[in-house]
Amino acid sequence: MLVNNPREADLIFLNTCTVREKPAQKVYSILGRLRPLKKKNPNLIIGVGGCLAQQEGENLLARFAQVDFVLGTKEFNRLLEILNIIEKSGTRLAATELNGRIDPYAELPLVGEPNSAATAFVSIMQGCDNFCSFCIVPLVRGREVSRPSRDILKEISLLAQKGVKEVTLLGQNVNSYGKTSPGELDFSGLLRAIQEIPGIERIRFTTSHPRDLTESLIECFGQLSKLCEHIHLPLQSGSDRILKLMNRGYTFQEYLQKVKRLRQVCPDISITTDMIVGFPGEKEEDFQASLEALGLIEFDEMFSFQYADRPGTKASSLAEKVPKEIGERRLRELQTFQKKITQQKNKAYEGKTVQVLVEGKSKNCPEESTGRTRTNRIVNFPGIFAPGRLVNVRIVQAYAHSLRGEVQNPPFN
Ligand code: SF4
Repeated sequence: MLVNNPREADLIFLNTCTVREKPAQKVYSILGRLRPLKKKNPNLIIGVGGCLAQQEGENLLARFAQVDFVLGTKEFNRLLEILNIIEKSGTRLAATELNGRIDPYAELPLVGEPNSAATAFVSIMQGCDNFCSFCIVPLVRGREVSRPSRDILKEISLLAQKGVKEVTLLGQNVNSYGKTSPGELDFSGLLRAIQEIPGIERIRFTTSHPRDLTESLIECFGQLSKLCEHIHLPLQSGSDRILKLMNRGYTFQEYLQKVKRLRQVCPDISITTDMIVGFPGEKEEDFQASLEALGLIEFDEMFSFQYADRPGTKASSLAEKVPKEIGERRLRELQTFQKKITQQKNKAYEGKTVQVLVEGKSKNCPEESTGRTRTNRIVNFPGIFAPGRLVNVRIVQAYAHSLRGEVQNPPFN
């Protein structure tokens, strides 16, 4: 049974991230807070899973006596087995084998569990073969492994039968799906197969790599009615010199050409991105190239970060680290610049009628509903509608991170 209060739990499992340092520090602090609970209730089992577990392994057992088990990123299917061992013998253990397990999904039952009444995430691949020089993912998630498409399609059909209308396909490098599995569908083939599943109204995916954005995938945005008009396409830097040091595998011009093609086949597409400032060796002119890139492309939204070393990555050994204050200043400048663009983009929605998939009641106002446009904007509007309904909403006001609207008559098509 799920409980809301950790004091009532028999099992506490922390699923962790280590892409940046902050989430890792947060896990250590939560573990500290759990120590008194374990003292009070020695039968309580505490486990740590995910990327930090993979990175730290046995160290977590050595450092935190309250932790009973550590479960690596390719060992999650062993959770029940490990809990049985702990309950029977009380042994503390770390299971962190990484590349030996070819398909950790194979032994799992199909999940088929929506994360809301209307939407669900579906993991379609794990790991990454790209080795961007700043990124810890290949070190903690291992090499790229794609799930068999028949399992993915079956899971999505099950979700559709449960009333799910929108699926988001997940993977560290989602659009290289199938590349390492000879005879398997490629990513656009998978999207085309999902398009045929009755009941599913919307398809999304994240996160894609610009290098793997093929012409066939670009064409899907013009051809597949269920594929939402949104792509998250991390650029990371506008400077070719920095992109090379990052080992991203494309130049800014190559990226720009793909953006132009996307807008050609799908003029309404919303494009969001990730940017890093203060990468080792980033000079003022490299940073200016990033600013120019934002001005040229006009992304709908940007997630931006100040570079920080991650252990074991190639970039962590690069010299010429950018001083913290310079990195902070560049981040502020970049965010201020993009904020204006995002505001303009949101403002352009005012007066338009958009299709919104209702996800539930608004968090801030129980008399209102909340949902998303096909372009991934959050919309709040008066009235209670069942999750999963597709409602026509006229946008009356744009904010920095959401839109406000009124339901149109008729509300449904
Ligand atoms: S493609 Fe993404 S997940 Fe893979 S190494 Fe690069 S940043 Fe990390």
